[in-house]
Formats: sequence, structure tokens, C-alpha cells
Amino acid sequence: MIRKTSLQYHSETENITPGGVSSPVRAFDPYPIYMGSGAGCLIKDIDGNEYVDLCMAYGPLILGHAHPSIISAVTEQLKKGSVFGTPSVPETDLIKTITEKVPCAEMVRLVNSGTEAVMHSVRLARGYTGRNGIVKMKGGFHGSCDSMLSDRTQSSSKNGITEYTAYDTYAIEYNSVGQMESVLEGGNIAAVIMEPVMGNAGVILPEKDYLKKVRKMTEKEETLLIFDEVITGFRLSEGGAQEKYGIIPDICTMGKIMGGGLPAGAFAGRKDIMMHLSPTGPVVQTGTFSGNPVTAAAGLAALTEMTEKRYEDLDKSTEELVSSLSDSMNDRNITGTVNRAGSMFQMFFGVKAVKNGTEAQRCDRDMYTNLFRRMLDAGVYMPPAALEVNFTSTEHHKEDNQKISEEFDNVLRCMK
Ligand code: PMP
Repeated sequence: MIRKTSLQYHSETENITPGGVSSPVRAFDPYPIYMGSGAGCLIKDIDGNEYVDLCMAYGPLILGHAHPSIISAVTEQLKKGSVFGTPSVPETDLIKTITEKVPCAEMVRLVNSGTEAVMHSVRLARGYTGRNGIVKMKGGFHGSCDSMLSDRTQSSSKNGITEYTAYDTYAIEYNSVGQMESVLEGGNIAAVIMEPVMGNAGVILPEKDYLKKVRKMTEKEETLLIFDEVITGFRLSEGGAQEKYGIIPDICTMGKIMGGGLPAGAFAGRKDIMMHLSPTGPVVQTGTFSGNPVTAAAGLAALTEMTEKRYEDLDKSTEELVSSLSDSMNDRNITGTVNRAGSMFQMFFGVKAVKNGTEAQRCDRDMYTNLFRRMLDAGVYMPPAALEVNFTSTEHHKEDNQKISEEFDNVLRCMK
């Protein structure tokens, strides 16, 4: 594949923005590809090469690229105005829909990104409980707010995070009930924040009853449980992972799908906790673009399209795809495993099972990078890094999944 126009743009852009990208996950060697358009599950780069997309912008596009309902909702709202700095009807409609679909959402606050949702949730948890400590999972990712980017074992003067901030963050292993028990013991933990299904260390599923035990332990210690559902929200079911696993957190964060492909975020939870936010409470949270009517219209269109039946169909088609990828790995005697939850999956090479962030780190990431490059040349755009997630959408049809499976098998054959 020839990608010389992407290279030309990259050569220019890397002099005017670090690494030539607006978010570091987009950078890869030898240079990132500029996409020009997308329709359904297909994307086309600016040199005209076409790819089946499995990265799907890291999760928001459950309905594929340029879905007609979203185009129409956005266009109609834009004609009326893009931002008012007042409440608006699309905003209220989206909030209402979230309260109807998401089990923990008695009240919702709309923001502009997953990072914001997490940052404000953490502050809210501290304000509500009067405690400082926050527990996160090793290998988890919750956006780029200071308290979530570091932990007490990882202080550094070069990363811009003060040692005081890092000191209040504890990192423990996902799926470890023992570590959770110990960390909660001191009584100074405001909240445990976790992705109920990990989606930033590849995909890692909760072991049987793990989330239930976490819920019990946090309740006992009067520590708030925050599910970061920025990826899993509206991805694993209409009510997210909390609905799928039947565990209700005190607060949850959302983003990605709930913006219909536009920049979005939200956090939601118990009314008594949410009322602690300004203007009704002392915890400050503001945003010029929060609850933006265009984003809200797009998000509402996406959530309305995603009925229970569509989740079932998507789960089934992704299961078929993943089972054919696993078969290829087995047939070609490649050590590895593929973890899947609904329409999100990731393969890990060189390991037999992955159940926490540290185990994910041990997989053969070079082999994944090699696979990524070869799949790219074969016309399949996977996420560039090994510990990311492949996402399918309602627009990944049988023939698209067949192409992915065939190319995957070809690539594995060549890599042997
Ligand atoms: N939480 C999780 C679980 C995420 O995966 C991400 C981003 N991938 C974020 C928070 C941050 O979201 P955003 O990029 O919208 O700020």
C-alpha cells in the first residue's frame, strides 16, 4: 500500500505538534496514517487505501462511521445553534435516557470527555466522604487527570504530577480480592475506581463473583465504588457492565458511545452523592461546553438506535469472529489467548491466560505490533498497540468479519 500523502502530512505536522498527533495513542512507527473518510465499518485513508476498521476510534462508534441517524440528528441541531450556555432540550433528553438505561444513574452530570468525568467523580468522592485515598487497578487507565496517571509507588519529578497527588492513589491488581481487602483496611479510602471489564490492558474479564465481592467490601468500609464505564457503558448492554453483571456502583463514568461520535462524557450516581455537586453542593464542577446540544443530539440518536436486540446480534457476530480468530491461532500452533466481552476483544500472544494488568504486560507485544503492521497492509485497521481493544460495530457484517478472519489467518501463516 502506498501512503505517501499521509507521510507528507506527518512530516509537516510532527514539527508543529509533538509526535505529529493530538493524542499519543495514535502515534506508531514509521508514521500514523491520516484517515479521510469512513462509512459503516470501512475507513479510507487520504491516499485512497481502504481498511476494515477494528479500532473504531477507540470505542465510540458502535453504529459504525457516518451513521445516517447521527448525521441527521447533528445536522438538525446545528441548524438551530451549536451552544447556548443555557440548558437545552437535547441535553435533558439525553440525561433522561441515561437515567432510564443505567442502573446506578439516579442523577447525571454531562461533561465533555471521559477524563473530565473521572476527574470530577474522584473529586466528588473525596468531597462526599471527606477521605483522600483513591484505589485503582494496575494496568487500568482512566484518562489523563493527575490522580489517575500515577500512584504512590511511582513518583517522578519529570511527569508533572506532584508526589502528594501520587501518594493518595493506590494501585492494586484486578481480580485480587485479597489486595482489595488489605487496601481498604485503613479506612482512608474515598473510592475504588475500576473498569468493571478492563479495556486498557487489552480486554480482561472479571472472575466469577469478583465484582460482587468488591461491592460488598466497599460497602462495608463505606468507600464509594466508581465503575469507569467510559468504554463499557452502552457497549456491553444498554445499561453497561453494571447491568450485564448485576452490580450497582455508587458512581459511574461514561463517555465514547454516549456522544454518538462527538466529544462527550458524563458521570452519574446516587442522588445524595450527586447533590454534593455545585450548585446544590460544595464540590465544584463546571464546563462551557458541558451538555452541548449537538453532542447530546448525537448521543441520544446513538442510544436510541442501540436496542437490546442489536446488542444481542452484535454479541453473537463478535463471538463468531473471535472464535474464528482463536481457531486460527490454535491451528497455527500459536501460543496465546483472545479475551472478549461483547463487542470488545483483544488477543494476547505468548501467554495462555490473562486475568490482571501485570499478566497483560507479560504478553508478546512485539508479535502484536508485527501483526498490526501486516494486517494494516492487508486492509484491516486494528488498534496499533497490544494493550488496546478491538471493537466491532453493528456495521461489521458477515463479509467484513470474513475478510478479517481470512487476513488474520494469512498473516499468522506468514509470521510463523
Ligand atoms: N476511562 C477509560 C476507561 C478510558 O478508556 C478512557 C479513554 N480511552 C478514559 C477514561 C478517558 O476518556 P477520554 O479520552 O474521553 O478523555
